[in-house]
Amino acid sequence: MNICYYCFMKLNELKLTNPYLALPAECHDRVKPAPLKNPFLIHANEAVAEILGIDKEELHTGRFVDFANGAFQPEGSDTFAMCYAGHQFGFFVERLGDGRAINIGTLNGLHMQLKGAGQTKYSRSGDGRAVLRSSIREYLMSEAMHGLGIGTTRALALIGSEHSVYRQEWEKGAIVLRVSPSWVRFGTFEYFAHKKRFKELEALADYAIAESYPHLVGLEDTYALFFGEVVEKTARLMAEWQAVGFNHGVMNTDNMSIAGLTIDYGPYAFLDDYDAGYICNHTDQYGRYSFGNQPTIGEWNLRALMAALSPLIPREKMEERIAQYWKVYRQHYIQLMGRKLGFDTIQDGDLELIRHMLGTLQGLHMDYTLFFRTLSRYTGDRTDILKLGLYHQPMKDWLDDYDKRLLQNTSTPSEREERMLKLNPKFVLKNYMLQEVIDAAHEHDFAPLDALFRIAQDPYAEHPEFEHWADATPDVYKNRKLSCSS
Ligand code: AMP
Ligand code: MG
Repeated sequence: MNICYYCFMKLNELKLTNPYLALPAECHDRVKPAPLKNPFLIHANEAVAEILGIDKEELHTGRFVDFANGAFQPEGSDTFAMCYAGHQFGFFVERLGDGRAINIGTLNGLHMQLKGAGQTKYSRSGDGRAVLRSSIREYLMSEAMHGLGIGTTRALALIGSEHSVYRQEWEKGAIVLRVSPSWVRFGTFEYFAHKKRFKELEALADYAIAESYPHLVGLEDTYALFFGEVVEKTARLMAEWQAVGFNHGVMNTDNMSIAGLTIDYGPYAFLDDYDAGYICNHTDQYGRYSFGNQPTIGEWNLRALMAALSPLIPREKMEERIAQYWKVYRQHYIQLMGRKLGFDTIQDGDLELIRHMLGTLQGLHMDYTLFFRTLSRYTGDRTDILKLGLYHQPMKDWLDDYDKRLLQNTSTPSEREERMLKLNPKFVLKNYMLQEVIDAAHEHDFAPLDALFRIAQDPYAEHPEFEHWADATPDVYKNRKLSCSS
């Protein structure tokens, strides 16, 4: 992405485009945002403003609040919601769509959406709104994923309001102005395939290829290559979630990005203690979207996409591509885990060592993030690591193997330490931390939100002032489940 440092613009100088509107009318609903009452800025993301080419001084103006509230539309903005379908918990729903996200236009390759800006044709029985707590969670977490180097949507701004929104009780409405290089979902393809609208399906595939896989435009076999790249990107994303300990919680096909990004942050969680069976979503009774099941669901979702693309691509060609899924996943996962463990290269037997480690962490109820951060400083003295668990023998056994494996490194221990500290975050945004921020925000104190935002942007730095957030999660908050209501 090119950033022009000399041409940051004022909001009234912006010229937005709307490339998605070139698609057939069935792809979208042209709808205007319904602004919230008495909006106020909670946070703005200067790094995203820079990519968009928006002058940072504009972020603190009343016009910016109006912009994030859908009350001020820059030149070229032609607002709309996108239509999609999706498999929710394995069951097909033929029409979903942006029920509360309204697209306001594109700048520098990033499509901007207002999440919580009112109803659209796709709202079904929903009110088109988002409450403050869920908006804080999406705003912070998308930035944290970016800080961790994982593909994700991001956000330019978070605004609060005096607008009352009813969930289980009265709450206040908020809007996240979120941005992404693509908002196309697996479910967008499923919508047109199900309706047998093959012309639209093809137009959508051409659009998605031009948007997210432009190097494939005009090649022979473009559609098959496109599917192959979606397979690869999804496999890599799953490996990244597993390596960092992220549980998305609602991996319905409408929440799967065709560009391989993490999208639609709901009842997600980072692992506290390592637990492969952890389910963050309280409505996920059978653990379809449990932490350990995510890579399997990634493949399941790709098979749903494959069915939707079958009018465009011969089945055998897609089978060939999807057969690569587990290979790509495993390779990337082992690479990531090998790096987290400080190995110079991957060797035979590393997968067994990783499995042995995960079993040990699970058995000892050890905090996943803290374990790797502590291991980054491991010099052979086992005290700090053994302290993390109640029983010592299982970890001693694993460390015996780890010590032997480290002898294969050619880099020095201090080089290993330096590398590991840049790969193993000191902080991840655990749910109890987010809850502290939300509780303060309900009292109009946004200082903790700002603190967590700074941590999110650089989770590998020491941030000594936030040391308490680097500890293992307090017992009462460990491995809880979250409600989907947002
Ligand atoms: P999600 O679980 O947030 O990915 O949403 C699933 C579907 O429900 C999407 O089509 C959303 O647009 C829609 N939806 C969720 N909450 C609301 C709401 N409050 N109002 C309207 N639509 C909603
Ligand atoms: Mg969604």
